[in-house]
Amino acid sequence: MLITYQCAVCGETNETVLDESEGTMQEFIEDCQVCCRPNVIRVSIDEETGALQVESAFEE
Ligand SMILES: [Zn+2]
Repeated sequence: MLITYQCAVCGETNETVLDESEGTMQEFIEDCQVCCRPNVIRVSIDEETGALQVESAFEE
């Protein structure tokens, strides 16, 4: 599924593809498409409601 996250550095909204088959708690690194800084993306999916929570943090 396509998810969006806000870059922790420049604040721009990015889109990325999440592979839901990898589990309901995932962490991966994505480079911002605008400023090219790496963001650590943490995704959690509520197994009952399917609600998606996305957090981003800047990776030094
Ligand atoms: Zn950025």
